[in-house]
Amino acid sequence: MPVKKVDVFPLCYQEPNDDYADRYVVLVRLETDDGMVGWGECISQFRPSTFATTALIENGLADLVIGRDPLENEKIWNDLRGEVWWYGDAGGIAAFAISAIDMALWDLKGKILGQPLYKLLGGKQKDRLPVCASTHPKASEIDDMAAELAGYIEQGYQLVKVGFGKKGHANLGVDAQRDIAFVKAVREAIGPNAGFIVDIGAKMKWDVPYAVKMARAFAEYGLTWLEDVFHPDNMADHIHLRQAVPEMRIGFGERFWNLNDYQRLLEADICDVILVDPGRTEGVTGMHQITQLAARHHVEMDPHSWSTAINGAASIHVAIASTNSNIFELKPVENPMQHELVTNPIAHVDGWIYPLEGPGLGVEVIEAVVRKYHLREGNVSR
Ligand SMILES: [Mg+2]
Repeated sequence: MPVKKVDVFPLCYQEPNDDYADRYVVLVRLETDDGMVGWGECISQFRPSTFATTALIENGLADLVIGRDPLENEKIWNDLRGEVWWYGDAGGIAAFAISAIDMALWDLKGKILGQPLYKLLGGKQKDRLPVCASTHPKASEIDDMAAELAGYIEQGYQLVKVGFGKKGHANLGVDAQRDIAFVKAVREAIGPNAGFIVDIGAKMKWDVPYAVKMARAFAEYGLTWLEDVFHPDNMADHIHLRQAVPEMRIGFGERFWNLNDYQRLLEADICDVILVDPGRTEGVTGMHQITQLAARHHVEMDPHSWSTAINGAASIHVAIASTNSNIFELKPVENPMQHELVTNPIAHVDGWIYPLEGPGLGVEVIEAVVRKYHLREGNVSR
């Protein structure tokens, strides 16, 4: 059952959870000579990276997959990493391409063996994970945002995460007093027991004194963790923050690419939680290796997973097969890539996510929906 065909689909969709911004992913569809199909995804996120990833696969990396046995997927993964030695084994666009191919190979392998992916990764290390509503609030008023977040807790979510510096009118992350008032209002609205994560993110350019002041103020309101405070290259600032505010748990790492990056991060001992996305960190293989390394360092793993149901399913399998996974994030507003793309969208049950039991990734992709969102070079409006 060698792989006979590799199809690549650059997609564009409007994300309701991100103020209807255009967002991009690349899907890979593998088909064996006896007609079995596996799907993978990378979160290329922007238009140029989406076309670049597509080109890498179509113009070369697919050749390393065609004719190969999907059961030897980790050998193929090593071959792909070897192939990109000059332009991507340290990260970047090639990591997106490897991620999508690797995820599709694992899906195919599970389908061939008739087993869910988590079993191929060694089996369930836990039965379920608490679910977090991962949000970009866009209302302009603090009370309105706090009410929206409290609504998710009422729906059963056990935690809420709030991204600062996002689209819409929230304007979070720029005014210290308003941000502290926001965190206070949210804590009061969601109650003392709900988890609450603040994600500073790429748009914010906080320096160390400002970050220390904010982390100390936020700590009064029992954050589960504070995430991505500085640029990923900026280890020194993270060390200062950790020493100055030891009472604040720190989450970090969603912009790293591979095991070597995370090894440096873990050895620096600057965070309590790493964020890992199988659509960025060289697939399920990369994410699983990274997660296992983090477990050795007694660091928790939160799947980044803010993308398609394919990525979400892969993330759930790795998390369920890991001793150190902590929560699972879902975009709370219904959206095309989670709810339209597959016949069986991922959903929480009373605030918990459970293992997916179908073979491979355990989600069924609807190919008509893939075609609906398919983007081609020169096709500006899709
Ligand atoms: Mg984040």
